[in-house]
Amino acid sequence: MKLISFSSQFQPLIEQMGAELSEFDIVVKPRDPIEIELEGAGLDVPLHDVAPIGGLLSYAGLQVVLYIPDQGRNIDKVFIDGWSYGKKVHVADCKVLDKMRMQNRFERYRAVANTSGRFEVFGTSYKSGRDVQGVAELRACKVCLKYLNYQGYVTEPGKQNEILKNFNLEEFFLSYSTLFKSLPRSLRHKQGGYSSDWSKISKALREKRNWRCESCDLSLAKHRHLLDTHHVNGNKADNDESNLKALCKDCHRKQPMHDHMGISSEHMSTIQRLRNEQGVLGGDETWEGSIELVDSSFEGLLRLCKTHKKPLPEVGYDVSDSRGAVLVQAELAWPNDKYAVVMDDKEKQLVESVGWRCDTLSEALRTYQ
Ligand SMILES: [Zn+2]
Ligand SMILES: [Zn+2]
Ligand SMILES: [Zn+2]
Repeated sequence: MKLISFSSQFQPLIEQMGAELSEFDIVVKPRDPIEIELEGAGLDVPLHDVAPIGGLLSYAGLQVVLYIPDQGRNIDKVFIDGWSYGKKVHVADCKVLDKMRMQNRFERYRAVANTSGRFEVFGTSYKSGRDVQGVAELRACKVCLKYLNYQGYVTEPGKQNEILKNFNLEEFFLSYSTLFKSLPRSLRHKQGGYSSDWSKISKALREKRNWRCESCDLSLAKHRHLLDTHHVNGNKADNDESNLKALCKDCHRKQPMHDHMGISSEHMSTIQRLRNEQGVLGGDETWEGSIELVDSSFEGLLRLCKTHKKPLPEVGYDVSDSRGAVLVQAELAWPNDKYAVVMDDKEKQLVESVGWRCDTLSEALRTYQ
């Protein structure tokens, strides 16, 4: 199905208005019935139909998480404290799921793309002996967080409890927005609270900053829609110049309290390509600098590379053929070793076609598991 995108057609107009529409807001497409179910109560799915993408779980091309609705005799306790007593929610393609696949216990799982953190559950009440159903809050599986090294779950010592406690699915889905074709509907329209003259103010500020990101120094004069205006103190009504910063969409989403922002893979790869062309990526050859610039989907892996004392990789590296034509932009590359890590199998084949070794993100995460 072809996506109808207004972004290219109306881009000059949008820019003239200084508006800040993001890709996820302006892509219009008819809703798929599977998508509606996944974003609602979920779908019971055989485990072997759930495909790993970038170490995460996908069903019908959409990001999902998996849980077991049947809580058995624990159901009374699950209603009271689902976090402690409920079965855990798998947010990634972790080892526990591998084991389940091997044992062929595949009919018990339900896939959901609902980011509310509340799940439909059922079981047999210990007290009444009857079958009961309802909604409970369930906690994320620790093995999954470990596998992804989510927010540095493995590599930032002492932060595990905090990461687990603060884990929320909205933020989680948005961190990996580049890996999937679309975000759940509930996450697409999260902006609001701007003053009525905001588009004018925003445009004036970005113009004054010469259409340059104040964090990574990328010039976006020719891609103005990729430059946002950020409110430093978080108050969207406070448009004093000292409270405003021009930031590219990637640096913007990495600001504190910006877990409402995602970025499409198209926008991310444009930003990485421009950073490459403008030498922004080469400027800061440190682990911290690279962690700041990498696509969030690869952040967990990059932190693992650091801990495992791998040499510092290039971020957003163009792998070219013998005539110098760029075949693919590898998110992480070690050109001296002719080795790269990319999003998916399609990119992997391209990288391997020029004699490099290559892993997908899923495969690279596995080697550190
Ligand atoms: Zn898990
Ligand atoms: Zn930036
Ligand atoms: Zn902001």
